[in-house]
Amino acid sequence: MSSAQYRSLKGMQDILPPDIYLWQKVEQTAQRIFSVYGFQEIRLPVMESTSVFTRSIGENTDIVEKEMYTFTDKGARSVSLRPEGTASVVRSYVENSLYNLPAPQKFYYSGPMFRYERPQSGRFRQFYQIGVEAFGDPGAKLDAEVIAMLALLLSFLGLEGVSVQINSIGCEVCRPGYREALITFFSAKREGLCPDCLRRYDKNPLRILDCKASGCIELRQGAPRITDHICGDCRTHFEKLQSLLSLLKVSFSLNPEMVRGLDYYTRTTFEVTSQGLGAQNAVAAGGRYDRLVREFGGPETPAVGFALGIERVVELLKKAAPHAAPVPLVFIASIGDKAGSESLGIAQQLRQRGLWVETGDPSGSLKSQMRRADRLGARYVFIIGDEELLSGRLKWKGLDGSGQGELLFSEIEAFLTALVEK
Ligand SMILES: [Zn+2]
Ligand SMILES: [Zn+2]
Repeated sequence: MSSAQYRSLKGMQDILPPDIYLWQKVEQTAQRIFSVYGFQEIRLPVMESTSVFTRSIGENTDIVEKEMYTFTDKGARSVSLRPEGTASVVRSYVENSLYNLPAPQKFYYSGPMFRYERPQSGRFRQFYQIGVEAFGDPGAKLDAEVIAMLALLLSFLGLEGVSVQINSIGCEVCRPGYREALITFFSAKREGLCPDCLRRYDKNPLRILDCKASGCIELRQGAPRITDHICGDCRTHFEKLQSLLSLLKVSFSLNPEMVRGLDYYTRTTFEVTSQGLGAQNAVAAGGRYDRLVREFGGPETPAVGFALGIERVVELLKKAAPHAAPVPLVFIASIGDKAGSESLGIAQQLRQRGLWVETGDPSGSLKSQMRRADRLGARYVFIIGDEELLSGRLKWKGLDGSGQGELLFSEIEAFLTALVEK
């Protein structure tokens, strides 16, 4: 037993093989899909000035109020580990004047985020997101493209039972009116609200709509719907988005209660959920944030993006199918010192060709080397001893039952290349 001092922190986990292969699959697939839509990778610090997050995410959100890892560094500055990616991307966009480049500018990022949440199944204090942010186009076309790209990614990953929900939460013009309508609606029901919602009642009543407390869920029955209050421009945008999603054959449903827990969204919000994940069932979520760049001191720049939770996608992939970790193509068993050196030379030659080769311990028995080849799941075993060195032929055996035979040393590469191409 290791002492508590040397254990990972609560809510933080190591990601080890074989799970890591699923992580890599998610990351590599995302990279491939995002690049065909013209998104470029950016890498940003995991720590920022606290104000980067309080300003963008909003003072009255769960994230800022309860969940940030905020501390004072040795220079007496308040810094925070990033709880999400968008704020940092926007900070970088403005700081590096990326708005001077031709629009739209499309970026993606991948990495750890940190929130001090109560750890529970599927939730971690260090969790990983892959996210995209596209700047400079106010039209619904960009929203549709981003959502279609997300749907394509999930389908390339082989996830079934996912559904896209969309909503419009209005703009600076129409949201104040909706806010008033909500305040009026909840004014007679205030006592029934949970402490969080009660506190947010006049500042951010929209948050009551996505509160998880059962009392709040009950109280909001019959509440005015945002989609009945949005202005003409927001309505046109929302309808255009729906027709484009239909055109792109992305199936979606409308969810007028989905307001998302962040202050910066305008117009489109969306979530992708999966049956397989229970209550915490959002796999990815995002929306449009047309005011955020300006709030960071940049020029008026509309933007839209999403973030996808890698842990959740990996969990779904695990449920869908047991993942086969990659295995070595060949294990070379050798008997004796000379054969051992020969096997190392052959391994090097094959590795230079990009083939995964493992070698056994030439001082061990053939039996123990075969056992190790088996445990590694190697597809083929080569056997080299004194006799093989003399004859210039090695013995091969397919561990998947694909036969056995002999092979000239000079034929090894051709033999394996044929296998790999098969
Ligand atoms: Zn509007
Ligand atoms: Zn509540």
